[in-house]
Amino acid sequence: MSEYKATIGLEIHAELKTKTKMFCNSKNDPDEKRPNVNICPVCMAYPGTLPTVNFEAVKHVVRVGCAVNGEIADYSEFDRKNYFYPDIPKGYQISQYKYPLVKGGTLNGVKITRIHLEEDTARSSHDQGDFSLVDFNRAGVPLMEIVTEPVIHSAEDASAFAKELQLLLQTLGAGEANMEKGEMRVEANISISKTDKFGTKVEVKNLNSFKAVEKAIAYELARHEKALESGEKLVQETRGWDENKEVTFSQRAKEDSHDYRYFPDPDIPKLKLSEVLELSQEAIKKSLPELPWEKRERLTKLGLKSEDAEVFVRNVNWAQYFDTVVELLGDNKKMLLAVNYLTSDLAGLVKNDESVVFETVDISTKIPAKSFSALVTMASDGVISSRATKDILKVLYEKGGDPEELANKMGLMQKSDEGELTSIVQTIIDANSNVVAEYKGGKISVIQFLVGQGMKATKGSGNPAVLKSIFEKLLG
Ligand code: ADP
Ligand code: MG
Repeated sequence: MSEYKATIGLEIHAELKTKTKMFCNSKNDPDEKRPNVNICPVCMAYPGTLPTVNFEAVKHVVRVGCAVNGEIADYSEFDRKNYFYPDIPKGYQISQYKYPLVKGGTLNGVKITRIHLEEDTARSSHDQGDFSLVDFNRAGVPLMEIVTEPVIHSAEDASAFAKELQLLLQTLGAGEANMEKGEMRVEANISISKTDKFGTKVEVKNLNSFKAVEKAIAYELARHEKALESGEKLVQETRGWDENKEVTFSQRAKEDSHDYRYFPDPDIPKLKLSEVLELSQEAIKKSLPELPWEKRERLTKLGLKSEDAEVFVRNVNWAQYFDTVVELLGDNKKMLLAVNYLTSDLAGLVKNDESVVFETVDISTKIPAKSFSALVTMASDGVISSRATKDILKVLYEKGGDPEELANKMGLMQKSDEGELTSIVQTIIDANSNVVAEYKGGKISVIQFLVGQGMKATKGSGNPAVLKSIFEKLLG
């Protein structure tokens, strides 16, 4: 973008995976389709009820905070954020204002301002007729909010941050963060400026996919530039994203935080994290699984191309399968060969298989890691050709079986028996006197053609290296 510099800061909400809601015992079940079944007097805001803090949710946020190297609060409290709307039964949302659970940290090279915990609102739908419906199953579900510093400078980097956060939440088991299901929701704050001073900030809401994040930011940056170039003034406001028209539209002038009249919730005890044994940072840091960026580094150090590494970084099931296969192979050359057959051939079979979902498939139920590594070993040892490996892989995937038995049954074991191959080579030499003459005249490259004839004659089962050496011997 021209001489303007783009500045973007993100606010991302993610529903956390817990058994119960943030402040009561109602079930937290994002897949519940029947409206208003997971509710109770607390999340329905009946007078006289008292909230209690769900430590599972607090722990998730502390784990995320540790993973991004943020500063975990010792003292924390919950505040009431007051506003009136049908999706917020109490007339306020319990959130955190002055004392968030986490301050600072970095993710994907982006500085984090804070991570705090709040409760989700009910889900309202306005598209059923000339009335609105409210489903309170979601009201009170633990919601993590992460706010970044205004240090992102492109739509792509913004979307990359959101993707890395999703991956982190999934890796930590903190949430599914499925954007299509509304489990993760991105708000982008955007401004442009020619100088070091920030320009007017606009906040875009309702970004329900990574594509929407990229498109909406790109749209908004272009809109700002056009306005400024034509001498118009931008207003600080909240805008929505129209998925169909692919435009942003004005929703409301930005409210200031004092409009929310934040104050500490008197019903909820203050948190003193150091007094809770299971929230000890030392213990939590030790309990963290391999984080996405750690896995990325480990795999690229092993020699994987970054796009191959990414398949395993992004898909836990594939990564587990790969790790098992690597252990069985125990050899770097075989490992890299396995990566190839995994990320191109086996991945292709899975993608074409409508009965499974790529991201969640348990591949070992299709091909046990032991069979897969046996197949790769055969390919690596030259017992079967790469063509044959792919064919056997397909049969293994569709019908199962033992790789070696299949290779025999399908006639794909490479023939390395010199006696048998020599007679085939002789027949080819006899039938191709022109080519043989070329070879003898110094055009050595035609040997590839002859080897090809040998492969054809053996229906692909001749070992090309052995064939080549026999040709060389007989023509030498
Ligand atoms: P507000 O009080 O309007 O909510 P905050 O200071 O809390 O503003 O910031 C909210 C988000 O907006 C943060 O992610 C922050 O990084 C981002 N932000 C702040 N100023 C700008 C700006 N000039 N351009 C883009 N993003 C900004
Ligand atoms: Mg804000």
